[in-house]
Amino acid sequence: QKVLVELENTLEEETYQDIFEPIKSTHKYSNGNIFVLVQNDFVKNRINRFYLLKINDYAEKLHPEKVRFKFVTEEDLIPEETLTSPERDLDKKYRSGNLNATYAFDNFVVGKSNMFPFRMAMKVADQPGMVANPLYIFGDVGLGKTHLMQAIGNYILDSNVNARVLYVKADTFIEDYATLVKKEKMDDFYAKYRDIDVFLVDDIQILAGAKKSQMEFFKLFDYLYQQNKQLVITSDKPASELKDIMTRLTSRFEVGLSVDIQVPDQDHRVEILKRKLLNETSDLHDINNQVLEFIASSFVTNIRELEGALKRVLFYCLTNNLDLSIETAKEALEPLLKTKKTSNSLNENNYDKIQSLVSDFYGITVTDLIGKSRKSKYVLPRHIAMYLIKDSYNIPYATIGNLFGGRDHSTVLTACEKIENELKLDSSLKVAIETISKKLNNNL
Ligand code: ADP
Ligand code: MG
Repeated sequence: QKVLVELENTLEEETYQDIFEPIKSTHKYSNGNIFVLVQNDFVKNRINRFYLLKINDYAEKLHPEKVRFKFVTEEDLIPEETLTSPERDLDKKYRSGNLNATYAFDNFVVGKSNMFPFRMAMKVADQPGMVANPLYIFGDVGLGKTHLMQAIGNYILDSNVNARVLYVKADTFIEDYATLVKKEKMDDFYAKYRDIDVFLVDDIQILAGAKKSQMEFFKLFDYLYQQNKQLVITSDKPASELKDIMTRLTSRFEVGLSVDIQVPDQDHRVEILKRKLLNETSDLHDINNQVLEFIASSFVTNIRELEGALKRVLFYCLTNNLDLSIETAKEALEPLLKTKKTSNSLNENNYDKIQSLVSDFYGITVTDLIGKSRKSKYVLPRHIAMYLIKDSYNIPYATIGNLFGGRDHSTVLTACEKIENELKLDSSLKVAIETISKKLNNNL
């Protein structure tokens, strides 16, 4: 009732009347979950999508123990008497699906860089097994792959009490397989991995090099896929570049839909910071936009670092009792900015610098360096320049590609790997790169 009152006070009257007013006191309580019956799936989905997070946040404030609201329709409710207790235990295990409930769609800030993956993830969550299977999400570290994947799982769990969702990191899969195969407990393995509706596998690239687990994964994939169970996979690279992963596996990934998350632009990063601020308990909620702009421009390529920077600034100001300004933010972040070369990365001149130093070194023009010619006198310097930019700034391959006339992720990746390998064999290349690096450091 208290939650309803809160909703009535904060929502528009019409929304409240449509969605929440019809809710009578019909509910039951079990294991920290308060089940609330609503009329139909439409209402349920609307609540889950737009209000559930808010409701549960509020419930948490009201209730010292963690309680969560689940909105269900008659259909979703399994009569509890029909479950024997081992089944119920199993059920409890599946209920969480190893998911972290804080990863949701409604706290995922959408912008150009992740709009398509976000939309597809929502669609998949709405109709598991029907839209895109597997959904393959790739992108560089810290850009929200895990968040988006877990949001799919949480959404499905929230909207269907019976759904069995399993989230694992690929290394857990490898470990499970290795342990259980050794103990001859494959039944346990199958119980965990086969009896599910939605399989979320994070960081699949880890499977490279684990040949036996790959085989088992391959079997599992087919088993689930044939039953139309939804699979979602994340990786730090496109499926086609999963080295050492059996081609059989890669081609499985390619039957579905592949989406990539890119680096957010400045406005998007500011939006993310604003959203993260809402979660902070401090009373510094109205940070000046300029301060946010400053933080956003200093942490460009990784949302986790961006979040960390914000926390650090808030903490610094609170503990030292300082007002928040660009100056104090700079002070707070100084240790990070110092060690982090990426902090310069907004300043594209530094990329230019690398390009021009490499061009000078090899006696070619920057235009040729970033141009289309495949002549070897241009190709080697081009690859070296890509390598140096990756090495110095660790920005995504696709971003580097843009600095070289719009080449794609995989071209840059291949170039960097090539140079890295050749460096081990070719000492004159090593000297060349060291010389250029030295000049670069003197220049910055
Ligand atoms: P990845 O799995 O790609 O390495 P994560 O999903 O772990 O990245 O994201 C890193 C951090 O950034 C998490 O705390 C996540 O909540 C946050 N994050 C990423 N993308 C977004 C976004 N679009 N909106 C809000 N937070 C985000
Ligand atoms: Mg991740």
